[in-house]
Amino acid sequence: MKLILLGPPGAGKGTQAARLVEKHGIPQLSTGDMLRAAVAAGTPVGIKAKAVMDAGGLVSDEIVIGIIADRINEADAKKGFILDGFPRTVAQAEALDIMLAEKHMKLRAVIELRVDQTKLVDRIVKRADEARAAGQPVRKDDDPEVFKTRLEAYNRDTAVVAPYYEKRGQLTVVDGMKPVDDVTAAIEKALA
Ligand code: AMP
Repeated sequence: MKLILLGPPGAGKGTQAARLVEKHGIPQLSTGDMLRAAVAAGTPVGIKAKAVMDAGGLVSDEIVIGIIADRINEADAKKGFILDGFPRTVAQAEALDIMLAEKHMKLRAVIELRVDQTKLVDRIVKRADEARAAGQPVRKDDDPEVFKTRLEAYNRDTAVVAPYYEKRGQLTVVDGMKPVDDVTAAIEKALA
């Protein structure tokens, strides 16, 4: 089962992806997590990506497409995966189409978590507070000002990705403002 989770930062993609991993035993491929790991490890990709990520911008299509191309070739991705945070531009969606076609892979679903953007800053402040309380590191880009830039990047470059799939009849919209369990149930219904 291969699926894509779409939605702005703070929509709950990571939370829902973790539940899908548990239920379906397929890996979550989060380009954000992979980029943060590259930054932490100081790899050439990490060095290139760090400043853009810290500022809330989008890392180049070339870099993230390369990361995903490598990742879906790994053994654990054979039976399926959840794409979280990718594709974020139409160029990335087109590149993904080519990669999947080459591997004779088909998407089961593309799910958009639709949320009220005016509520997202509050959510992100909560996410940072919870991380702090749990003694976990707080993401630099969860700072409210940087978060606003991430939201702008979403509305400028990523909001067009859902219509890209909608035109092909592949998109399911889920209300991401509902309680977490209700969102999970709606996603499972879309996958059934
Ligand atoms: P995320 O964890 O998905 O919110 O991603 C954190 C940051 O990583 C984003 O704000 C971008 O700077 C970068 N990033 C993650 N995925 C992508 C992508 N598909 N395209 C471009 N930049 C990305």
